[in-house]
Amino acid sequence: MILNKFVFFSVKKRYFVYHIDTTVCAELDNIALTILPELVNGGPRELDDKYGHMYPKSQIRRCIKECNELLEICKFNKQPVKYKHCIQHFLASVCLHITHDCNLRCEYCYADAGSYGGERSLMGKEVMTKAIDFAFTHSGKFKEINIGFFGGEPLLNFKRIYEAVQYAKEQAKRINKRVTFSMTSNAVLLNPKIMDFLNQEGFSLIFSIDGPKKIHDKMRKTKNGGFTHSIVLRNLKKFRKKYSDNFTVRGTFTRTTSNFSQQVLFLNDQGFKHVSVEPAQLDEKHPHAISHNGAISRILYEYDQLAEIYLERFNQNNPLHFFHFDQNLRNLLHPVPKYTECGAGGGFVSVIPDGRIFPCFETVPEEKNCIGHVDSGFDKQKRRQFQRMYVDVKRECRKCWIRYHCGGGCHAFNIRYNNNITIPYKPQCVFIKYRFKLAAWILSEIAAQGDKSIKKLKTHLEIT
Ligand code: SF4
Ligand code: SF4
Repeated sequence: MILNKFVFFSVKKRYFVYHIDTTVCAELDNIALTILPELVNGGPRELDDKYGHMYPKSQIRRCIKECNELLEICKFNKQPVKYKHCIQHFLASVCLHITHDCNLRCEYCYADAGSYGGERSLMGKEVMTKAIDFAFTHSGKFKEINIGFFGGEPLLNFKRIYEAVQYAKEQAKRINKRVTFSMTSNAVLLNPKIMDFLNQEGFSLIFSIDGPKKIHDKMRKTKNGGFTHSIVLRNLKKFRKKYSDNFTVRGTFTRTTSNFSQQVLFLNDQGFKHVSVEPAQLDEKHPHAISHNGAISRILYEYDQLAEIYLERFNQNNPLHFFHFDQNLRNLLHPVPKYTECGAGGGFVSVIPDGRIFPCFETVPEEKNCIGHVDSGFDKQKRRQFQRMYVDVKRECRKCWIRYHCGGGCHAFNIRYNNNITIPYKPQCVFIKYRFKLAAWILSEIAAQGDKSIKKLKTHLEIT
């Protein structure tokens, strides 16, 4: 139910109110569920008369007092600072597609095993240096810039990564800026030399692994059909033992591996501290695509199961790390409205091996998404459609209750599935709302145990 700017919803017999503008969410008991909508709607003053047949009047009066306090404490009745969208011209982050090729042939790969539907290629030295020059030239006010390495599998072109890091550090020093590095890899090619290098240069790392051997090896095989689970797991454990556990492991689930709570549990039980398991983004006709209602319902059921497990493990002092619940819980504890999903095309761009520039890796290789070239610079008009995007520009998002929690969804998915940057990709919307509601339920169950448990949750979520 939506009333003015308030949304009322229930999850597993707990009731909540959510304020659209501030994204504040609070739990309600039965009586507050009756009284609060009346107060929000400016209903009759004599609520104790109206509802006296349902609840004792003393309880109604207590509830009115508490609801008014709630409205005040939660700032529900205050207007948030009006958002003014500023076009971002300066680059904070550039992702180099250092390789358009891959050593694996994952069944659900949206990038056509690294080739993105084109010729397999590696980024040459000339494009790499031009892309880094481009990044610094356009970094404007930013004192720090991140250079990311992406593929396919970036480690197939490790030599170029090494050169890029040396070159970027030299350029940063020359103009008195800082540079950081990041990489997404399937971890198969990690060796002691590469691990040393990644650690020494302080890379932020995301490694792909799908959880248990049976699930991973079904999907993530080498070109020749070889299994990769044991290699990947061994490499990640070596990296953790010698250097750090501060990296993300990322798994993917599909329609055919939709029992993804097993993936989340496995990765946690291996001791990884940052775990993300996400739905594959595939063409609707792909055999692994999560496209029809039956598949979506199955995924929702699995999120539901995972919420129960998350709570159970928290209560057993063995809490789970699962990005989509962890992040929602952080937002529930410290609500901050969000007006954009990401900075693709504005503060963030991707450069592919032939030098073309795209808003992000998800928008490669569609020519219509290309926003420039490292030789000729930005195509200002094409870049602008991404720069100007924020939640209130998207027609359907403007009507959506969770818009300032979501920020308006992924531009690339909208283009890929609806051929229109402003039309949201529906399955993503369903998952965003459902995960938020489940996180609200988890928080309410933990809050019911008292302040000590909330403190424990904050420690788990690394909230200081
Ligand atoms: S490792 Fe990544 S790029 Fe390579 S096939 Fe698998 S999903 Fe595609
Ligand atoms: S992307 Fe979907 S969930 Fe997000 S604001 Fe738009 S309609 Fe709502």
